[in-house]
Amino acid sequence: MNELFLLKLGEIVLKGANRWQFENKLKTNVARRMRPFGEFQVHIVQSTVYIEPENEDCDLNGAWDACHYIFGVVSLCRCRPAKKDLDDIFRTAMEYLEDDLRLARSFKVESRRSDKRFPLTSIGISQEIGGRIAEALPQLQVDVHNPEYTVYVEVREHAAYIHGPAEPGAGGLPTGVGGRAMVLLSGGIDSPVAGYMIAKRGVELECVHFFSYPYTSELAKDKVLTLARLMTRYCGRMTVNIVGFTEIQEAIRDNCREEYFTLIMRRFMMRISEKIAHAHGCKCLVTGENLGQVASQTMEAMAVTASCVELPIFTPLIGMDKEEIVTIARKIGTMETSILPYEDCCTVFTPKHPKTKPTKAQVDEACSPLDFDALIARALENTEICKVRYHG
Ligand code: ATP
Ligand code: MG
Repeated sequence: MNELFLLKLGEIVLKGANRWQFENKLKTNVARRMRPFGEFQVHIVQSTVYIEPENEDCDLNGAWDACHYIFGVVSLCRCRPAKKDLDDIFRTAMEYLEDDLRLARSFKVESRRSDKRFPLTSIGISQEIGGRIAEALPQLQVDVHNPEYTVYVEVREHAAYIHGPAEPGAGGLPTGVGGRAMVLLSGGIDSPVAGYMIAKRGVELECVHFFSYPYTSELAKDKVLTLARLMTRYCGRMTVNIVGFTEIQEAIRDNCREEYFTLIMRRFMMRISEKIAHAHGCKCLVTGENLGQVASQTMEAMAVTASCVELPIFTPLIGMDKEEIVTIARKIGTMETSILPYEDCCTVFTPKHPKTKPTKAQVDEACSPLDFDALIARALENTEICKVRYHG
């Protein structure tokens, strides 16, 4: 086979005795991600995942693109194997990289030799191959300090591998090593980013969305499903639990004091999300909350909201500036969908003067006209489960 991919493991290499579990998970994840693109062999040797196409029918470009979204990989390269002798390494380097080399003014060769039986040292390999390339392409200068292009030669167990500069991987830990989380997914900019950040730590995601038809439209629901689908590019398949929230919002509006509307609504969200989380084996809730961004995101408000559930609520965006969040939203491809102008249920019945420094006692009191358990039970009955998966 004349081209394969090498994926370098990230933080996994810092793991101790349980490292093999992380590696096995990553191997399974990679194999699953490759499946739509043909038959590939996947194995891990010396902190590197090898992905080799088994036949000519594989969609190499599709597979290569998908490799950029696999958590647990710190960098990746496409490479060509050569026999472990200098003539074949040189010939392969020229065949495979000559076009790239011709675009550069200077280059160097960087070598690594994990097979210590190979007669030359890394420096020896670099000098020998670098010298031959410089001779073959006289317009190209050798520059070992600041080259425009670097040729890499890795002499490993079964072959030597030749490649150009590696590309950054998705980072993080392999999906599935860190359990499962329930993301409260609105249609905004923040919550998809929050979900992505938790997913990056090796966590599988499920989502819950609160939907207040007719105050929020079918388009708002489609938007959330689109966002979820975009997230699955990184975190794999998930379910979005769409909870009918209209009755609860109307009950709050009709029975509670206006300045507490949002806080009470958020308590319902947490309680319902916790129940759905238990049903899906999720061990935490995740929100896109961000300190000081809106009235319900003060320390006091967040404490009062969190006090009605036992699961931990993770808020990975808590200390970030909007600009930092937007940069990630653009990188993961959710930004354009997030800014489509559909209502969120949070913007329905927003109080004119929301309470920003509530106490738990005040909110308990403000909630007292409502039968939480009955309203929650009906909302759960009124939940639609949508499965989403990535498809191009
Ligand atoms: P986002 O950009 O994610 O919508 P936001 O800055 O607009 O966040 P809020 O609307 O106050 O902030 O919501 C805070 C968090 O509560 C959201 O990040 C999300 O996790 C959750 N949330 C808000 N509305 C909904 C909803 N309709 N369904 C599910 N979760 C929601
Ligand atoms: Mg919002």
